[in-house]
Amino acid sequence: NTSYQRIEEVDDQVQAFLTLDKEKAISTAKELDGSTVAENEHPLFGIPSGIKDNIVTKALRTTCGSQFLRNFDDPLYNATVVEKLNDAKAVTIGKLNMDEFAMGSSNENSSFTPTRNPWNTEYVPGGSSGGSAAAVAAGEVLFSLGSDTGGSIRQPAAFCGVVGLKPTYGRVSRFGLVAFASSLDQIGPITRNVEDNARVLEVISGHDKMDSTSANVDVPAYTEALTGDVKGLKIAVPKEYLAEGVSPDVKKSVMDALKVYESLGAEWEEVSLPHSKYAVATYYLLASSEASANLARFDGVRYGVRSENAENMLDMFKMSRSEGFGEEVKRRIMLGTYALSSGYYDAFYKKAQKVRTLIKNDFDKIFEEYDVIIGPTTPTPAFKIGEKVEDPLTMYANDILTIPVNLAGVPAISVPCGLSENGLPFGLQIIGKYFDERTVYRTAHAFE
Ligand code: GLN
Repeated sequence: NTSYQRIEEVDDQVQAFLTLDKEKAISTAKELDGSTVAENEHPLFGIPSGIKDNIVTKALRTTCGSQFLRNFDDPLYNATVVEKLNDAKAVTIGKLNMDEFAMGSSNENSSFTPTRNPWNTEYVPGGSSGGSAAAVAAGEVLFSLGSDTGGSIRQPAAFCGVVGLKPTYGRVSRFGLVAFASSLDQIGPITRNVEDNARVLEVISGHDKMDSTSANVDVPAYTEALTGDVKGLKIAVPKEYLAEGVSPDVKKSVMDALKVYESLGAEWEEVSLPHSKYAVATYYLLASSEASANLARFDGVRYGVRSENAENMLDMFKMSRSEGFGEEVKRRIMLGTYALSSGYYDAFYKKAQKVRTLIKNDFDKIFEEYDVIIGPTTPTPAFKIGEKVEDPLTMYANDILTIPVNLAGVPAISVPCGLSENGLPFGLQIIGKYFDERTVYRTAHAFE
């Protein structure tokens, strides 16, 4: 009830939620109130939470922020992460707004309404998990799930002053996550602090036979890593992450954070990730290529609202898709289809795959010597609604510090690390080795 009261108070302005599940949530909460099961057997007992709207929830509308799926009211199954949250006795409050099919960095691509930044509603909350970050920042839920393909958990977490983690690729099952770019997508938690984040990841992690890319590795107790001890930790700071384009106040907050780590007995050194400069181009080719294939299923027959204006079969597919998808989604489908088409495949898709390997190798090399990589999450704090919407390339460039992590597949967190002059938060990004979320959490927790 407290969650719904808060939503009633603030969601008119923040617009984080697309769908609420009030009746069911309240009846689940009542059941838990009356139940005799021990709370400690259920790590998220009674905790109100929100789910990004590209994660499938049984019998609860799942739109992916798209008009095309506005009537997808009755999905037949739960995503694995949702099943796991239910088993842990978390209470789902509702579904959270996002850029259409997770394509965007500001939530302005939601085809319903843009979510606003709770710190200042003239600013964007970031994207594509903008609703997930804003709902936590505004106190509407205690945690949320987002998805991160090129920064979509970390960037909105940074813009909204909350904690967001993208796990190692394969750590969390993608079964029931509507695919954007299957080789990059991961689901992760957004919370107010590091401990809550570790707790939620503990619940949603693990191998799943329904997702062949989920890794069969042990899930350690992340919360036990939160010792506060970072003595002897070796931190790498890539010079490319503090280069031109990163605003002076963001740089300063990162340098201040490094001083905190020094005072705690950690060491840091400047390093280079030389292929970072190709990351944005590589990502937008690969992600769009995968998206063009993944989005083929939305045809107005199996999924999506069917056009009423078509007179034959082919027109029905075409018209449903042109009426259903928004502009950014169409732009990506066209770019991806082009990069994959014969004659262009070698020059674009294949080349991008090769550069992806070089980017991954950059990380591997650094991690031979260092425990974590630290830099800013974004080059600047949140921008104004409308400021970049006309210019997709500027919008894409904003992802420069988060994208390399997805291309490599390593885990990374964003934790709040300061405020700009106009009072907007920015984030410190801590990147770890494959499946070493423990060190990422330990490092983040010591700074908090
Ligand atoms: N902003 C990036 C994009 O538009 C990242 C999106 C994401 O991580 N889902 O593709």
